[in-house]
Amino acid sequence: MPRTFDVPDFFRSPIISLIKHARRIQDPRKRDLSPSILNFGPVDFKIARHFGFCFGVENAIEIAYQALDDNPDKRVFLLSEMIHNPHVNNDLKERGIKFISKTSGEQLIPFEELHTDDVVIVPAFGTTIEIENELSERNISLHKYDTTCPFVEKVWTKSQEIGQQQYTVIIHGKRDHEETRATFSHANAKAHVVVILDIDEAKDLARMIRGEMPEDLFYERFKNCYSDGFNPKLHLSRIGVVNQTTMLANETEAIANLLHQAIISRYGEKNSRNHFIDTKDTLCYATKENQDATLALIEDGADFAIIVGGYNSSNTSHLVELCEAHMPTYFIRDVNELISPKQIRHLDIHTKKLMDTINWLPEKEEGKAIKIILTAGASCPDVLLDEVIRKIISWFPDSISINQAISSYKDTY
Ligand code: SF4
Repeated sequence: MPRTFDVPDFFRSPIISLIKHARRIQDPRKRDLSPSILNFGPVDFKIARHFGFCFGVENAIEIAYQALDDNPDKRVFLLSEMIHNPHVNNDLKERGIKFISKTSGEQLIPFEELHTDDVVIVPAFGTTIEIENELSERNISLHKYDTTCPFVEKVWTKSQEIGQQQYTVIIHGKRDHEETRATFSHANAKAHVVVILDIDEAKDLARMIRGEMPEDLFYERFKNCYSDGFNPKLHLSRIGVVNQTTMLANETEAIANLLHQAIISRYGEKNSRNHFIDTKDTLCYATKENQDATLALIEDGADFAIIVGGYNSSNTSHLVELCEAHMPTYFIRDVNELISPKQIRHLDIHTKKLMDTINWLPEKEEGKAIKIILTAGASCPDVLLDEVIRKIISWFPDSISINQAISSYKDTY
């Protein structure tokens, strides 16, 4: 279908798009993970090789704007947030789209208020079979503007395949995240399901598999995270692991290995194939690329890191997790959080609270540039990084201009 809408201005990004373009030409096969360095004299920005809008997000945004363009006389709804970025969601709202539920699943508009000629868009995270059925009973079609990312659908397919072989699906994911709720529902159509959040929960599940934990404790430990009729003795005897597409790659791998080992110790190496199905990881390419590029940034070193993205974005919070183990790291929603060279507002991913840090920008040492890592999640428009760069260099009167920095950057490629 030809697309006819205008891309909103806030997607345009003169600085970052130029850097991305240069890297694409220099390394079309995306093998080089080294950062792009934008040198302003007193400040160097080390920009990740991969970050920002992924295929699924771009596709979802295009379809949402197309839906508005196609239907000027109809009511247009989104099942929940389009993606986890407040700028994109607010722009869609301002253009008239209404959100049916919150990210948490809490319903804002009852389904009874929808009419058959309303347009309903499915976000990139997908939706549950229960919601699909609910809307289908009301003759509301979800097919025309379904923006479910194909990488999310791939997890559903994998889950159902392993369910058909009588394995239980263990989802490494966040139980309240829209994508994991949708995956739970699609997996549960063919299998019993448990959602585990992290390695600590995986350790308890492993104890349960090895028979080291009373079964009753399962229901308490994994409350609201297992499918109806779940019997740990029966349903943990054959398992396969899939994940929410945006989890931390090394944690997903560690969880799968841990559970595999638990199966081996319970059933023996020889029999373990009958009890554990190797699913490989189901992370999407963008999550993997962004995490690998962030690891390369960390290896390169810096004074601190700024990660830009929506505060409810799972993939962004994992980039923060990677960086904060190595250097001061500030997770900001946008440039407005850079209050002054003395004060920054940012999200603490552990307490989920905003905090202000004072004296966050180090004093510049003579002859030494301050080195700043800059990256963003898969749902963050590139222009938000441009704004961060512009604001920080405005605090350094001896910086060279943006045009000069870009021109000397271009000379290096
Ligand atoms: S992060 Fe991955 S799964 Fe999510 S929308 Fe992007 S490409 Fe799809």
